[in-house]
Amino acid sequence: MKTVFLKMGAEKTMNAEYIKNAGDCLKQGGLVAFPTETVYGLGADALNEKAAEKIYAAKGRPSDNPLIVHIAELSALEKIVQDFPEKARKLSKDFWPGPLTMVLNKKEIVPKSTTGGLETVAVRMPNHPLALEVIKAAGGYVAAPSANTSGRPSPTRACHVLEDMDGKIDMIMDGGEVGIGIESTIVDMSVEPPMILRPGYITEEMLENSIGEVLMDPALMFMTEEKAPKAPGMKYKHYAPKGEMKIVEGSRQSVVAVINNFVTNELENHKKVGIIATDETYTCYPKGLVKSIGSRSDDKTIARNLYAVLREFDEAGVESIYSESFEEASMGQAIMNRLLKAAGHNVIDAEQAELGGIL
Ligand code: AMP
Ligand code: MG
Repeated sequence: MKTVFLKMGAEKTMNAEYIKNAGDCLKQGGLVAFPTETVYGLGADALNEKAAEKIYAAKGRPSDNPLIVHIAELSALEKIVQDFPEKARKLSKDFWPGPLTMVLNKKEIVPKSTTGGLETVAVRMPNHPLALEVIKAAGGYVAAPSANTSGRPSPTRACHVLEDMDGKIDMIMDGGEVGIGIESTIVDMSVEPPMILRPGYITEEMLENSIGEVLMDPALMFMTEEKAPKAPGMKYKHYAPKGEMKIVEGSRQSVVAVINNFVTNELENHKKVGIIATDETYTCYPKGLVKSIGSRSDDKTIARNLYAVLREFDEAGVESIYSESFEEASMGQAIMNRLLKAAGHNVIDAEQAELGGIL
């Protein structure tokens, strides 16, 4: 298949003809990647069973991992969900369009291929003008997971989509770099109290300020691999770079010392090593390929750079990656959730390592 690459212009200029082409392609059951404010999505008509199935094939995605249905207008909900609880309505007022996905009871019309066999459907209204236009042009319901090969870091630029999807999908719409850089917060509104299934840009505190108590899926709090999370997709290894990745936790001083020690050892073994540092620590690492993912005082930048940095390490052929830890940021839960998955939960306690446990 030849993948058509459409450049929309740096200022996200709307190109009516391109949007119509994308909409027609989706209506005919094709696959179109487009930017949203979180990451690039791989779109298919959510109400067309065969089209949704194609997404799993293109991504190599396990078939029990449901897709998020993207809508452009609130009135579109009626056709696909059984009920829209008062709290869900309040969240939609406060956060839509935006990086919040709500799980609701589905109507018959939503095919099982879209929901991975579940009786609920995940719905989101993205806050990106191009995405909204494409959804409207496609008839209003676009299933769109991240436009990467399953397991790889999610795409935050059109070139990342091209890397993974060239020849596998009909069209890529290049709308420049995305704004947020990590996937939406998912909250299950089919249970009471509502439950966060995936942390994201919209934090637990923001949700509670809007609707009162929300619970956190216990599998997320412990952040171990053992407990099965409630969002089926959260159990899979995700976002992973090709190199083996480890996260080093502890005081800043210990983390830097321990990472530098590991890097020295790896270099002695002729390994290519990468370090995920911050603006504050960038100069503390004399050896290895060092990349800052932003300042600790600006967790939004850290979130935006995360996946691109992991892909840059892949391109450089890095075999071993050491990352600092980011728990304390307000988006820390979301950032750490992605980092832990990328590292396969491989975490080193810097203080213990310094005491001679590992080094
Ligand atoms: P992605 O589209 O790649 O961001 O992944 C979508 C995420 O939403 C996966 O982790 C899915 O497991 C989760 N998800 C989608 N639909 C549902 C649902 N009905 N119930 C629970 N989780 C869902
Ligand atoms: Mg994904």
